[in-house]
Amino acid sequence: MGSFTPSLDRLIEQFAKLPSVGKKSAQRLAFHILSMTDAEANAFTETISKARSSIKRCEICCNLTDTKVCNICSSQSRDKSVICVVEDPRDVIAIERTHEYNGLYHVLHGAISPMNDINPEDICIKELLHRLNDDVREIIMATNPTVEGEATSMYISKLIKPLGVRVSRLAYGVPVGADLEYADEFTLIRAMEGRKEL
Ligand code: ZN
Repeated sequence: MGSFTPSLDRLIEQFAKLPSVGKKSAQRLAFHILSMTDAEANAFTETISKARSSIKRCEICCNLTDTKVCNICSSQSRDKSVICVVEDPRDVIAIERTHEYNGLYHVLHGAISPMNDINPEDICIKELLHRLNDDVREIIMATNPTVEGEATSMYISKLIKPLGVRVSRLAYGVPVGADLEYADEFTLIRAMEGRKEL
C-alpha cells in the first residue's frame, strides 16, 4: 500500500487486518469512515472501545457478557443439571437458536491442539471442573467434530467420568441436503453412533 496520504494508508491497513477483508474492501471501508459525519464516526469508535472495556467472561461459564454472571447462568428457568461444553461463544448462539436445549453452557475458548501449542491449561477446563457439584448430572461435549475438538472432548471426559458425572457427546450427522456418499468416514461414523430409534 502507501498510495494515499499516511493517515489514510494507516486506516486502510487497520481494516485490512480484519478477517476476510481484502485490500479493496479495506479501502472501501476506510473511505466510508471518512464520509461519515463526526457524530457517526464518534459513535462508531465509542462503540468499539465500550465493547472492548465492558465485555468480559462470565464468572461461571466463561461466555462473553456485560455483567459478572451471564443471562443464562443467572436464569431461574434453565436446567442446572446439564452443562453443554462448547469451544466458542458463537456455538452458544447456534445452539440457543435451535430452542431445543434448556441447560447451561460452558465455553472453553478454544480446543486442545499440541500442534499449535494449545494445552489443556490454555483453555477454560479448570473453570469447568470447578462447576461440578451435586446438581450437575450430565456434561454434553459439543466441541467441534475436528481432530482438536475430539481430543478435547476425550480429555475432558476422562477427567469427569471418574467423578460419577454422565458425559455425552453431540451426535454429528450428515448435513441436511448433503448426499451420503460425499460425507467423510468420520461424519458417517458419528451419524451412525448418534442414530435414534424411529
Ligand atoms: Zn454464564
